[in-house]
Amino acid sequence: MPNKIAQIPMPQNEPIMGYMPGSKERKELKDELKRRKSMVIDIPMFINGKEVHTQDTVEIFPPHDLSHKIATCHKGKSEHVSKAIEAALNAREKWANMHWEDRASIFLKAADLISGPYRSSINAATMLGQSKNVYQAEIDAVCELADFLRFNVYFASKIYSEQPVSAPNIRNTLEYRPLEGFVYAVTPFNFTAISGNLPAAPAIMGNVVVWKPSSVQVYSAWTIMQILREAGLPDGVINMISTNAAETSNIILSHPDFAGVHFTGSTPVFNGIWKTVGDNISLYKNFPRIVGETGGKDFILAHKSADIDVLATAILRGAFEYQGQKCSACSRAYIPKSIWDQTWEKMYEALKTFKVGDVEDFSVMMGAVISEDAYKKITRYIIDAKANPNNIIMYGGGYDKKKGYFIEPTVILTKDPKSITMVEEIFGPVLTIYVYDDAEVSMDSILHLVDTTSNFALTGAIIAQDRYALEKMKNALTNSAGNFYINDKCTGAVVGQQPFGGARKSGTNDKSGSQWNLLRWVSIRSVKENFVPPKYYTYPYMSEE
Ligand code: NAD
Repeated sequence: MPNKIAQIPMPQNEPIMGYMPGSKERKELKDELKRRKSMVIDIPMFINGKEVHTQDTVEIFPPHDLSHKIATCHKGKSEHVSKAIEAALNAREKWANMHWEDRASIFLKAADLISGPYRSSINAATMLGQSKNVYQAEIDAVCELADFLRFNVYFASKIYSEQPVSAPNIRNTLEYRPLEGFVYAVTPFNFTAISGNLPAAPAIMGNVVVWKPSSVQVYSAWTIMQILREAGLPDGVINMISTNAAETSNIILSHPDFAGVHFTGSTPVFNGIWKTVGDNISLYKNFPRIVGETGGKDFILAHKSADIDVLATAILRGAFEYQGQKCSACSRAYIPKSIWDQTWEKMYEALKTFKVGDVEDFSVMMGAVISEDAYKKITRYIIDAKANPNNIIMYGGGYDKKKGYFIEPTVILTKDPKSITMVEEIFGPVLTIYVYDDAEVSMDSILHLVDTTSNFALTGAIIAQDRYALEKMKNALTNSAGNFYINDKCTGAVVGQQPFGGARKSGTNDKSGSQWNLLRWVSIRSVKENFVPPKYYTYPYMSEE
């Protein structure tokens, strides 16, 4: 066998394309949107390298254009879950034994397909299926997904080269084995990149996967599956199923070969998965890995020394990009009274220019929220907030679902910093602001308030120019966020730069897109070889005087 030790250079983050009027990429994307809208795509399940069609189908519409059908998705039953598990387990031996560099080539190729020939396709799928504007689609479906794949290959190479010391006459090595069994990947609707990364990360490390995407993200999930296929992913390594979530979990989480779950989604669903794993623990051959990134109630805290433009921009982008449907979205802000009027003036002037509508119009800032369920849930919070005498609706508060699930960017000013919209995850374009009297109230008490208001600890940002204030705020909020920002918005983590994840009820904080996440998908074998082994059982100290 020809040998080598491959060097995997640190990747560069995929550059974000501009989509300026007249640009080539803009034209290609517009053409692709048109092409996709002129057809109804068939979305099968994908088990053991085969497309699986069923009689049970659901129709898919863009959330911003509910009268235009774009796809038909084939739904499966419990037998498909079992078939996906079987396919994964059958593929395991060959996949786990493939040299990691050859496995890596598949994912590096997929990344290049995404940033190259499939760029407009995966962007258009994300815009139509999840109602992202062009920029939000580009940073997610292209840049972040390509980054996940490239950086994870690099991180895998770093893990594999991590080896122990050896004493004289001995050779010690660590072997990074894939988990013994299969991994269950459960993905959320809001990031195409997360949807691709959760099955791909364990697969890069040699694991086989059953992947259940969100039922409202299957349109771009199917594009990911097609790309992985074209990149050379062998049959059975990742099996994509569209099945009832609870039923799928019941089957998978009671299988003896269940080896781990890679989850991103809401905290209650993750709680349920964890509990079931606990209840079933005696059924498994191994203790399963449980990795879950969950909800957030992310904050921006301003100090009186804040630059007003920086503050207003961080809040507006953090709260309303992708309609607030980011786990990291700013949904509570704390602003000192001494700078509130100026801050609000800036925010208000900007909000008046926000365009909400069909994301195929590139001048639109916000599209629709993802589904009828999301629309109902978010508007319920708005209705209740309007009825609360402690609140003033400073902006928005309107909604309309005639054409799509549109909700205005909504700003609530509250006198009660523990009111429900300051505490619970809403996952929509709703921001609540608490103005604190910086002449009366100590910074310590505000910091305590920010730290203790919610059960989550995903992202948070502090805005100040006073260096002593920044230091104090950063230290006091040590456990309030797994991703912490200074003079920036609380969204937009970049793979390789800000590994992502939160603590408390925001997840296991295994930092997606990092070496630490990949470590969860291997089980280490320590191998000691003795070159000069002893040949008799006694030790020298046992000799007679
Ligand atoms: P969700 O919890 O409704 O769904 C997530 C996934 O879980 C979907 O695939 C869904 O079908 C599945 N699911 C639902 N019930 C299940 C069950 N009983 N067993 C197994 N799977 C089940 O979340 P969503 O609406 O898709 O996404 C929004 C949530 O995800 C928010 O809470 C957001 O904060 C969180 N999120 C977190 C991060 C992060 O990195 N922390 C990133 C993105 C989204």
